[in-house]
Amino acid sequence: MIIKPRIRGFICTTAHPAGCAAHVDEQIAHVRGKGPIAGAPKRVLVVGASTGYGLASRIVPAFAGGASTIGVFYEKAGEEGRTASAGWYNSVGFEKAAHAAGLYAKSINGDAFSDAIKEQTIALIKADLGQVDAVIYSLASPRRTHPRTGVTHSSTLKPIGAPYTAKTVNTDKGVVHDITLEAASEQEIADTITVMGGEDWEMWIDALRAAGVLADKAFTVAYSYIGPDLTWAIYRNGTIGRAKEDLEATAKRLQEKLGATGGHAVVSVNKALVTQASSAIPVVPLYISLLYKVMKAEGLHEGCIEQIYRLFADRLKSDGAASPLDEAGRVRIDDWEMRPDIQQAVAKLWPVVSTENLETLSDMAGYRAEFLKLFGFGLSGIDYETEAEPIAPLPSAS
Ligand code: NAD
Repeated sequence: MIIKPRIRGFICTTAHPAGCAAHVDEQIAHVRGKGPIAGAPKRVLVVGASTGYGLASRIVPAFAGGASTIGVFYEKAGEEGRTASAGWYNSVGFEKAAHAAGLYAKSINGDAFSDAIKEQTIALIKADLGQVDAVIYSLASPRRTHPRTGVTHSSTLKPIGAPYTAKTVNTDKGVVHDITLEAASEQEIADTITVMGGEDWEMWIDALRAAGVLADKAFTVAYSYIGPDLTWAIYRNGTIGRAKEDLEATAKRLQEKLGATGGHAVVSVNKALVTQASSAIPVVPLYISLLYKVMKAEGLHEGCIEQIYRLFADRLKSDGAASPLDEAGRVRIDDWEMRPDIQQAVAKLWPVVSTENLETLSDMAGYRAEFLKLFGFGLSGIDYETEAEPIAPLPSAS
């Protein structure tokens, strides 16, 4: 079939197999260009490994450290006449490239929140790797079925305490407008914490330890976001921010558990970037398009792969202890985003950006190009007019 982007609001319902593979190859080429990372972990489990920060967290240890990787994700396979999801094609592309480089890479597609997928992952580690030295937890999900109660909780992106009105952008139409978001109920806050907080991360680590498949000095990292006060009402002080506080508190508990055998647990605060998860958050895409404009002008722009390379190369030391840490014990690879000069420049643009000047004041064009790339569109060297086969098995499944 001929595969073109089909955008519905903030999602694209199609993905291009060769384009996604090329996007993965681009990230691998970046890592190879930067060179090996001494002391990178050798056996790595990535939960949420198929797109965004998780995919980059699989590529970096594999291609800068020769790591064996197991990736867990929840993606749709292709069918006759219907494309797979982008994360599926990314994972096919990743496995092919890893195998071609002589690296072990296997994937598990299913609900990471469930006991069954945890058990399947543990069985695979036992059979193939014995243990893992690092667990990267990079899930972003709108819902979670709790494995103990069977109840499905949905996360919301709402302010807390009072309704909030702010500027936002319809990225598809290029229209800047005000949006009013109703305050979350107590139940919505609790549900968002259940989905995006730290409980499942801790369940993974507990299950891996209980099964003896976590190396004594293993480390684990999960990702958080803080951002500037422009987005605080919707992000850091909103429902998702509560979930991130819970994730950060979980890191402290996990550090106590893992520290007993020389292991480590930490949260890394990452930069705001165009991913499938972030494009769903009101207000944030407008902030990102201004941030990209400012950071590109300063030569400081990074994507997921640059961020995660820097995390592994500069912040995660070979003994697993991360440094430097901020006052709350977190790694900060959002340091360039949060530089006062960068934030002042964005804050100056924020009150004046409008539908009329969006294309000049912001990097909306860059935002859109990045968004399309997430689904394998707009990559050079791909002929989007030729027939593409939507069904692509994961190499490790055969
Ligand atoms: P993403 O949407 O690109 O990736 C989400 C991953 O989770 C995918 O691999 C998906 O398959 C997987 N997933 C979702 N539900 C699953 C389930 N039930 N079972 C198994 N896998 C499942 O998201 P992202 O933006 O890379 O976010 C990853 C983490 O990084 C999140 O914690 C997010 O808050 C954090 N973060 C993101 C940004 C940003 O701007 N994008 C900034 C800082 C921190």
